[in-house]
Amino acid sequence: MRDPRYDILFEPMQIGPVTAKNRFYQVPHCNGGGYRDPSAAAAMRGIKSQGGWGVVFTEQCEMHHTSEITPFIELRLWEDKDIPQLRKMSEKMKEYGALAGIQLAYSGINGPNLYTKEVPLAVSAMPIRTFTNDPVQARALDKSDIRDLRRWFVNAAKRSKAAGFDLICLYGAHGFGIFQHFLSRATNQRSDEYGGSLENRARFVNEVITEIKEAVGDTMGITLRVSLDETIGDLGFSNAEVRDFIEMNRDLPDLWDLAQGTWEDCSGPSRFKEEAAQEQLVRGIHELTDKPIVGVGRFTSPDVMAKMIRSGTLDFIGCARPSIADPFLPKKIEEGRIEDIRECIGCNICITGDMTMSISRCTQNPTFMEEWRKGWHPEQMNAKGASENVLIVGSGPAGLEAARALSERGYEVALAEASTVLGGRVTRERQLPGLSAWGRVVDYREYQISQKPNVETYFDSELDAGSILEFGFENVCIATGAQWRRDGVSRQHVVPMPLDAKMPLYTPDDIMGGTKPAGKVVIYDDDHYYMGGVLAELLVQEGCDVTIVTPSAYLSDWTVNTLEQHAIHKKLAGLGVEIILNHGVAEIAQDHVKANCVYTDTIRNYACEAVVMVASKHENNGVYLDLKSREDEWADAGIKSVKLIGDANAPGPIAWATYAGHRYARELDGDDIGDALPFRREITELARD
Ligand code: ADP
Ligand code: SF4
Repeated sequence: MRDPRYDILFEPMQIGPVTAKNRFYQVPHCNGGGYRDPSAAAAMRGIKSQGGWGVVFTEQCEMHHTSEITPFIELRLWEDKDIPQLRKMSEKMKEYGALAGIQLAYSGINGPNLYTKEVPLAVSAMPIRTFTNDPVQARALDKSDIRDLRRWFVNAAKRSKAAGFDLICLYGAHGFGIFQHFLSRATNQRSDEYGGSLENRARFVNEVITEIKEAVGDTMGITLRVSLDETIGDLGFSNAEVRDFIEMNRDLPDLWDLAQGTWEDCSGPSRFKEEAAQEQLVRGIHELTDKPIVGVGRFTSPDVMAKMIRSGTLDFIGCARPSIADPFLPKKIEEGRIEDIRECIGCNICITGDMTMSISRCTQNPTFMEEWRKGWHPEQMNAKGASENVLIVGSGPAGLEAARALSERGYEVALAEASTVLGGRVTRERQLPGLSAWGRVVDYREYQISQKPNVETYFDSELDAGSILEFGFENVCIATGAQWRRDGVSRQHVVPMPLDAKMPLYTPDDIMGGTKPAGKVVIYDDDHYYMGGVLAELLVQEGCDVTIVTPSAYLSDWTVNTLEQHAIHKKLAGLGVEIILNHGVAEIAQDHVKANCVYTDTIRNYACEAVVMVASKHENNGVYLDLKSREDEWADAGIKSVKLIGDANAPGPIAWATYAGHRYARELDGDDIGDALPFRREITELARD
C-alpha cells in the first residue's frame, strides 16, 4: 500500500470555501478539442477524476466574445447557451470527488478576434501578439470599457457557477491573460490609476477578484494564475515584482497558481528543462501569503512532489503533462504502485494538438483524447477476443505498446526482436543530446511486459516470411520500423537527388549506430522536426564544424508546435552552428554541397568533408510484403490475420507508433465496422432558421 513518505500528498486542503481531497492539482491544459469536441474533452477530464486528482481544471475558457484566439480551439463561455457543454465537463470532473475548476481568460493583446471580427481591447493600444503576427492592433480599454470588462468577468463567474464548477482560475500567466497585461509594464503603459505604480497596475485584478467573490465567493474558490517571471527583459513582470505583488495582495485570491514565464518556459520540453525547473523562482513565496500555492514543473517523481510540500515551497502539486501521460498518477502513488507510473517524457507532442488545431495525442498515453471518441481507458483494456495468440515482429514503440496492451487483454504474446535490446528507434534516440527522458517510452513498457506471464520476448530473432509461416501464430503484427533515406528524397526532392559518391554521406541511423563524420560537416534538413537540430548539437560535441541547411524559413520548423523552436535555434547559434535558412541542397558534389535559395534558386557552395542527410524514411515493410505475397499459405500455417503497424506502415513521430500499437491491440478480433467512422464525433447542432 501507500508509502508513508507520501502521506503528505494526500492531506486535504481548503481553497476558499471548498476543500480539495489531496494535493494533486491538474492545472489548466489545452487538448486541441475544446469547444469543437466538448464530450471528448469532458471524458478526458473525467478520467483524471477517476485517477485520483484532487483538483481538475478545464483549459482556458474564453469568457467573452470580444476576446478570442481563433484559430486555436479552446472553450467558450460567451452566453448561457455555452453552459450545458461546460456542465457536462464539471460533472465528469466531480464524478470521483475532484474539485471542478474553470479557467476564465480574457486574452486582450493576445486575441486577434479573427472569428468575431470585434476590435480587440487591450490594456494599452498595441499590435496583437500571437504566434502568427496578425496585422491587427488592439484599442486601449477606456474607463467605461474597464467597467464593462469587470461586469463581464462577474457574469462569466455566475455562469461558471451555474455550470457546476467549484473553482475559478483567473488567467494572468504565460503572457496570455489580461491580468498579466495589466500587471506588466511591457503591456501596461497607461497613465491613469490603472497604470504606473505596481499598486495601480494591480488595481484591476483587485477589483475583479473582489467583485467575483461578492457574486460567487460564498461557494466557489477563486484562484489567480500568474507567471513567476515574464522573462521578456527589463519591462517584464519580473520575479522580484511578482513577489512584491503577492506580498502587497497576500490574501487576494483563495490560492496562488504560479506558472513559469512564457508558455514556452512553463511547458519547457525535457530537451531544455529538468523536472521542477521553476523551484528557484517559487521558493520563499509561501512566506509572503497566507493562501495556498500551486506550482508546476513536469513533476513525475513522488519523492520530488513530497519534498516540494514538506519544504513548504508548494501546497499543491500542479501537473498538466504528467496528468496527461498518466491520468492515474495519484491513484498509483496511493496504491503503492510507483513502478506503474507512466512518466511524461517531456516531448510536447500533446501541445502540438493545440498548436495544429487538431486533437491532442500523447506519446506515452495513446488513449489521451480517445476516452470518449473510441471508448479507450488508460488503465483498462477491452476483453480478449476469439483468438489466443499474437506474434509481434519488432520491439520499437509500436511493437512494445502492442505487446503491453495485448497482454493486458489476455493474449499469449511472442515479441521477436532482431537486435539484442528492446525499444527500436527510442533506444537509439534516447542516446542523443537532450533526449534521454524519451527512453521512458521503453522503460515503462519493458517493465510492464516483464511482469506479464503471457509475454515471451525473443532477441536476436530477425524473422522472415518463411519463419513466420513456420511458427503458425494466429495473428501476426509487423512492427519492423523504418530507416532514414540516403538518397535525399523528402519534400524538396521527390526523386533521388544528384550525389557524388566520393562525398562521405551519413544518415541519422549511421550516426546513432556509431558511424560518425569528422571535420567540416553539412547537415541537410528536409525533415524539419527535431533530428537535424539534435544531430547538429551532437556533432558539435564531437568536435565537428557544423553547417545546417534547410529549405524552411525556420530551423527545425515543426518544433514551433512543441514550443521549442526558439530554444533550438538559440542553442545551435550559441554552439557556433552556421544556420542557413531558406536554402535547399540542389546537388552534393565531391567536396561541397550546392545550396539553392528557395526563392531565387541562386546557388551558394558550401565546402565540406561530409554530409548528413536528414530527409525522409523508408518503411521496413519487406517481411510484410513477402507474407502478403504468400497469403494462400496462411490458412495452412494457422494464420488468421497479418497487420503492418507503426513506422513500418508509415513513418512518423514516436507518438504515432505508440498509438498504432495501442490501436492494433484494441482492435484485434474486433467486429468489422465496414465503412463506418472508427471514432465518435460531435457535430454542431443546426440552427432552425
Ligand atoms: P516503430 O517506431 O514502428 O515501433 P522502430 O524502428 O522503433 O519502429 O522499431 C522497429 C524494431 O523492429 C527495431 O527494433 C528492429 O530491430 C526490429 N526489426 C526490424 N525488422 C525485424 C525483423 N525482420 N524481425 C525482428 N525484428 C525486426
Ligand atoms: Fe508528456 Fe509527451 Fe505525453 Fe505531452 S505528449 S504528456 S510531453 S509524454
